[in-house]
Amino acid sequence: MKKVLVLEDESSIRSFVIINLKRSGYEPIEAETGEQALEELRKNPDIRVALLDVMLPDIDGFEVCRRIRASGSKIGIIMLTAKSQEMDKVTGLMTGADDYVTKPFSPAELTARIDAIYRRTGGDLEDEALSGELVSGPFRLNTRNRTLEKNGVRIRLTQIEYSIIKLFIDNPGKALSREDILNEVWGRDYFGELKIVDVNIRRLRIKIEDDPTIPTYITTVWGYGYKWGF
Ligand code: CA
Repeated sequence: MKKVLVLEDESSIRSFVIINLKRSGYEPIEAETGEQALEELRKNPDIRVALLDVMLPDIDGFEVCRRIRASGSKIGIIMLTAKSQEMDKVTGLMTGADDYVTKPFSPAELTARIDAIYRRTGGDLEDEALSGELVSGPFRLNTRNRTLEKNGVRIRLTQIEYSIIKLFIDNPGKALSREDILNEVWGRDYFGELKIVDVNIRRLRIKIEDDPTIPTYITTVWGYGYKWGF
């Protein structure tokens, strides 16, 4: 299982995060205080990513982050910061965090960040080798039989659509130009129009988005192309 530590003192936010992590195939380990978080990390050396709230009743999230790094741990760390704490992201990254998410955040945004960090820490390489599966948010892409599931429900894809999704999941959060997508999916010697990319994206959105008119998984990068995530 892909263990993720969730340090958050507000129980409503914590359970919101926990539910969404479980839905995305992670095994959340809960902690309410900084001391508890450090204790859980000691007990669960296989935790690969930690979500650390900044404002906590005992030691704050930055201090937890500092102590994790001081112990030599290289796990992925994402700070959960409030909008009013703009400085937090700077401080957080200085203390050794890999990323930060500003509250309020959407489940899709949070899991996209965790997926990206998890991949960077090598988690998915192992998992993919074992299972042939790539997990991103509610999606599970099986690279052996080239199938896609969203929240456990199979989504029928054409081979081109599959290749586009694979490209996105391999590049979370990265803006891909239409040319990039065309070259990667159709091949460099394809002489069609870039419009084919847009047509396929439109169709994919109908298949995978909660609301295709307000896409949250495949987002538009105006004047450039598309991005997987947020
Ligand atoms: Ca808090």
